Amino acid sequence: MRATNNPAADGFAWDGTPKNRRPPRALRVSPDSPTKLLRSCQAGHCTACGNRVEWYYRDNDRPVPLHPGELPTRLVPDGQRWHVLSGVARPTQDGSPWCRVHHHSLCPATPDPGTPGLQAARRNLALNTRRLMDAGRFTPHQNPPDAEPTPAPSRRPTVQLLHLLYLAPVPIDQILCVAQTRTRHRCTLPLLAPRTTPGTWILIPTPATAGHLSAPNLPTAMAAYDLTQLPYAEQLRWRAQRCSAHAATPSAADAALTGWEPFDPFLHHQHIHPHLPVAANSHDLPDPLPRHPPPP
Ligand SMILES: [Zn+2]
Ligand SMILES: [Zn+2]
Repeated sequence: MRATNNPAADGFAWDGTPKNRRPPRALRVSPDSPTKLLRSCQAGHCTACGNRVEWYYRDNDRPVPLHPGELPTRLVPDGQRWHVLSGVARPTQDGSPWCRVHHHSLCPATPDPGTPGLQAARRNLALNTRRLMDAGRFTPHQNPPDAEPTPAPSRRPTVQLLHLLYLAPVPIDQILCVAQTRTRHRCTLPLLAPRTTPGTWILIPTPATAGHLSAPNLPTAMAAYDLTQLPYAEQLRWRAQRCSAHAATPSAADAALTGWEPFDPFLHHQHIHPHLPVAANSHDLPDPLPRHPPPP
C-alpha cells in the first residue's frame, strides 16, 4: 500500500496502479532489411589490443570490425573513412562531419602509420590496453583480428554455394543456425538437418591465387562441398546460415555473425584438401594438406 495522501499526483491512479502505462512495444526486424544482426550481438574485442570493436557486415557480406565511436571526418584520411547505412558498413564517407573508422586504423598493436589526425584516438586505445593488462583482464595475442571474430578451427571445409567458394566456419554437420529464438538465445539447430537435401563432395580445380601472391605446395585439385545442385532458395538458406524453420521466418533477428569467408587459396591454403572424404556420406574431411610435405 502506498503511503501518500494524493497518489494521483505522482503518476499513480487512486488505487495505486501506474497511470498511462503502455504495453511494452515489441521490436521487429524488417524482413527485407539488409542485415538482421542484432546491435547487442555486434560487440567484440580486438584479440591483439583488447579494445572494444563493433562487428558489421560489409555490402559483400564480409564482417568488418569498426571502432565503436565516431571521429571528426576532417581528422580521418580519405581512404580510411567508413559509415554505416541500414546496418551495413561502407568504406566511404556519407558527407557528414563525423565518420567511423576500421579498428585497424587505430589498433595500438599494429605498426603506427603516423596519421596525424588519428594519433589522439590511437593513444587512448594504447592507454586502455595498458590498463586492461595491468588489471589482468587482457593478454595480447600475436596477430590482430582479420575478418574473423572467432578462432579458426582446424577442419574448415570449402563450400561451393551460389557459384561462389566460401570457407565454412566449422565442419559441415556442425554449422549452426545464427537466428535468435523466441527465448532470445541463438538457435541450436544445424543447417544440415535430417530432412534437408545434403550437398555432395566434388573435386574442383584449385583456384588461382590473386595477384603476385602464391601459396606454397598447392595441389591442382581440391575437395569442395557442392551445394549448387540444390534449389536456389536452399542455397540462400545456407548462405544466410539459417535452419529450415528460421529460413521460413525472415522477421527473426540474427544472434550471431554468419561464419562464411570468401575462399582465398593464398589465405586459406592450410584448409585445402586434395582428396574427397573416404566415406561417401561423410560430411567431414580427410586429414588436411600437410604444411611442409617432404621433398620427392
Ligand atoms: Zn586492436
Ligand atoms: Zn534456427
